[in-house]
Amino acid sequence: MAQFDLVVLGGGSGGYACALRAAQLGQTVVLIEKDKLGGTCLHRGCIPTKALLHAGEVADSSRHSSDFGVNTQFISIDMVGVNAYKDGVVARLYKGLQGLVKSRNITYVEGAGRLISPNTVEVNGEQYTGKNVVLATGSYPRTLPGLDIDGVQIITSEHALHMDRVPASAIVLGGGVIGCEFASVWKSFGSEVTIIEGLPHLVALEDESSSKQLERAFRKRGINFELGTRFASATKDANGVTVTLENGATFTAEVLLVAVGRGPVSAGIGYEEQGIAMDHGYVLVDDKCRTNIPGVWAVGDLIPTLQLAHVGFGEGILVAEEIAGLNPRPINYDGVPRVTYSEPEVASVGLTTAKAKEKGIDITELSYDLAGNGKAQILKTAGSVKLIADKSGRVLGIHMVGDRVGELLAEAQLIYNWEAEANDVASLIHAHPTLSEAVGEAHMALAGKPLHAHG
Ligand SMILES: Cc1cc2nc3c(=O)[nH]c(=O)nc-3n(C[C@H](O)[C@H](O)[C@H](O)COP(=O)(O)OP(=O)(O)OC[C@H]3O[C@@H](n4cnc5c(N)ncnc54)[C@H](O)[C@@H]3O)c2cc1C
Repeated sequence: MAQFDLVVLGGGSGGYACALRAAQLGQTVVLIEKDKLGGTCLHRGCIPTKALLHAGEVADSSRHSSDFGVNTQFISIDMVGVNAYKDGVVARLYKGLQGLVKSRNITYVEGAGRLISPNTVEVNGEQYTGKNVVLATGSYPRTLPGLDIDGVQIITSEHALHMDRVPASAIVLGGGVIGCEFASVWKSFGSEVTIIEGLPHLVALEDESSSKQLERAFRKRGINFELGTRFASATKDANGVTVTLENGATFTAEVLLVAVGRGPVSAGIGYEEQGIAMDHGYVLVDDKCRTNIPGVWAVGDLIPTLQLAHVGFGEGILVAEEIAGLNPRPINYDGVPRVTYSEPEVASVGLTTAKAKEKGIDITELSYDLAGNGKAQILKTAGSVKLIADKSGRVLGIHMVGDRVGELLAEAQLIYNWEAEANDVASLIHAHPTLSEAVGEAHMALAGKPLHAHG
């Protein structure tokens, strides 16, 4: 039986971040992974989808280049070429990550692990015991009753990332982040796209104003959507997939992408037998990611926190530092930056108006229209920066829509997490002409000294 300070089960964002940080802090670590180091984010999530979105952006640039006085011609999407580009990005990052794990002297074990006691994981008949065990087995794409995922006509994001053709038409079931990103890609690639969402808005967890702007932008791009009506059934034939909604409406398309959320990977791997407390399959933890069993921790999509790669990184690092006695601060999940990388992007940090009101906070809101921003005019993008502050001027939420606004979150998250007031930010000079000026201008306006803003 091999003994370690730390046994990490699952080599995705949460697991490998924990392993890397623990090794850096002098712990002996074994990292167990049944598929590929890097997990969902690197192989089936963040990275490949963003490569597809970038290819879509290039396609749109070539279509609209004459708007900038440049004559090009959009001919077609070559999925072999797109996939080669995407897979090349993933392969380079995968190689880099493998090198990183090796360089930190982490023992890497390939195989499906099972928790056989609170401090032991069994893999390929071998047992690995740790003073601490970190569960990081991630998530899988959920489906709905009555949907037969065949990987060809009815697919999940995992199949959508490996398509050898652009579907002529697609129905996207679910208007959350993943659904909106694929809808955006396919539209850029030339498909007819319809999103079906049971809630009243696309990206419903975002501030309502951001959802409405995204809906307006998608409508302008010709992306169809049905909101507030629930899925009833789907049937397949040679022409494609027909989806019927509870209100009787029907839609037919070549493919149906099921993007209705992701569930935790926690069944059949010993968690129940060891008495790990769970709810709907999610492993329950305290604010330091401790489970109810001493010495067993859990991070990433497996626990009921935001399902984002950088949340997994943060939780993995938190656990490694807590075990090493550094007493790190718990994560403030409201301060986690969130981006939907569609065209246009939606980015936010902090509270939405609805959440602030729910907490009974007396708020001030300000929306700065990107129409007043020089760089936005140059890029021909529309959108806004919306601020939510309390009556003392402390910024409680920043919500942005527009091309490239995801990059503006670097500043927005500092403003929120360092508890800045509008006045603090208003006095900082932003480079001209950049999109980041819109963040500065919004704070200037909120502080009562607007520059390039009317009213
Ligand atoms: C299409 C898509 C796009 C996304 N885009 C973004 C984005 O842009 N930004 C962002 O922040 N997040 C994004 N995400 C979410 C992000 O990928 C996840 O939040 C992140 O991967 C979670 O990390 P994790 O370590 O918890 O789980 P995972 O990455 O799922 O890793 C878990 C690992 O555990 C392994 N495993 C499971 N069971 C066992 C076992 N019994 N034995 C051994 N190994 C096991 C799995 O093989 C897997 O590699 C996206 C997700 C999807 C699906």
